[in-house]
Amino acid sequence: MEQTAKEANPKTHRAAVLQSPKDTVRITRVPTPQPTELKQGECLVKLAFSGVCHSDLHAAMVRAFVAALNVVMTQCHLQNDWPVKAHFPLIGGHEGVGHVVALGLGADEYVSVGDVVGLKYLADSCLNCAFCRAGAEAVCARASYHGFTRPGTFQEFCVTAARHATKVPVERGMDMAEASPLLCAGLTVWKALKVAGLTVGQTVAISGSGGGLGHLAVQYARAAGLRVIGIDTGVEKEELSRRLGVAEFVDFRKTTDLVEAVKAATVDGLGPDATIVAASGAKAYEQAMQYIRPTGVLVPVGLAPNSVIKLDVFWSVFQTKRVLPSYVGNRQDAVECLHIAADNNIKALFTVRPLSELPDIYDKMLKGEIAGRVVVDCSK
Ligand code: NAD
Ligand code: ZN
Repeated sequence: MEQTAKEANPKTHRAAVLQSPKDTVRITRVPTPQPTELKQGECLVKLAFSGVCHSDLHAAMVRAFVAALNVVMTQCHLQNDWPVKAHFPLIGGHEGVGHVVALGLGADEYVSVGDVVGLKYLADSCLNCAFCRAGAEAVCARASYHGFTRPGTFQEFCVTAARHATKVPVERGMDMAEASPLLCAGLTVWKALKVAGLTVGQTVAISGSGGGLGHLAVQYARAAGLRVIGIDTGVEKEELSRRLGVAEFVDFRKTTDLVEAVKAATVDGLGPDATIVAASGAKAYEQAMQYIRPTGVLVPVGLAPNSVIKLDVFWSVFQTKRVLPSYVGNRQDAVECLHIAADNNIKALFTVRPLSELPDIYDKMLKGEIAGRVVVDCSK
């Protein structure tokens, strides 16, 4: 293994740990993996920043937070957690950016000590199964996920598989904090747009356009030459969506007939060619199938628990409407999403807060009060 001569790793470091689904997240010290402990192909990253994704909140089993924070539940869909369970004790986070500080055997094929790398949700996959070979790395049976099935980026040091780390184009002027939300939110929506398969001039609705994923989806869609309809709620998210270039905005709370409002926001009144649902609740899905135009594509991205998309067999066939879910992205999507952002001045709107404030950040996210993204400073 190789390590920077300048600084030795500490014995312990700060991390936001959730001991069990019944507990609340606590800032504590955990053992720092030592270079000698790195397995083949692993590297150790000293994290500078990590974005906070709504998936972190889902994974941490919201019910525990709700009880602990005494939050008044306004979003009933959040009372249940995902059917797939996180591994506990859980260190969440999967939008991490930092410096490589040590390499396990063979990791130098992919990264060098000193590189600035991004750690996405998909931490590793076998690269050898039929799914990996076809680029569907996220569904590999041997995949592991930062902040879900292995320790994530809400800490100062994180071990990752070097082959899945994404080099951040710092040489193109991208700084570490700004790269961070791109590692999940940016990557996921860029991939979702590819799945939608639209061409220049077509119209896409972004449901959740003022949220972490959604506000980046608006920007990637604009960069791809698409007309965008934003759907979200509140003045702040409307202003953000409009500033980022939506042609029309529909407030899902103020609108009495959302389906008609979205159709009316398209040039010919027939509905958008596609919709990317980046909202975390079930309600957004109920209407999406109705407002997309014949031949339209619904791309489910938001991981609303206990939700079902109703597909009317006759009308979906008769109008050839399609449902094409999209799940994060592979190594190539990650590289593309960073470079497309650099080329097109795509930037997340984010505020930087100390890692120690994670419980409050979850609280605000639960109440729908975060426009854009929050990025935590892992050193504070
Ligand atoms: P976020 O909380 O930052 O944003 C969600 C936005 O949706 C908010 O602005 C909220 O106001 C809006 N919203 C809520 N209900 C809505 C409705 N009915 N119609 C329109 N907008 C509505 O969350 P985020 O971090 O952007 O994540 C969004 C969802 O995407 C989460 O469920 C998350 O778990 C999921 N996710 C999925 C993938 C994937 O690979 N498919 C990757 C990352 C995140
Ligand atoms: Zn995420």
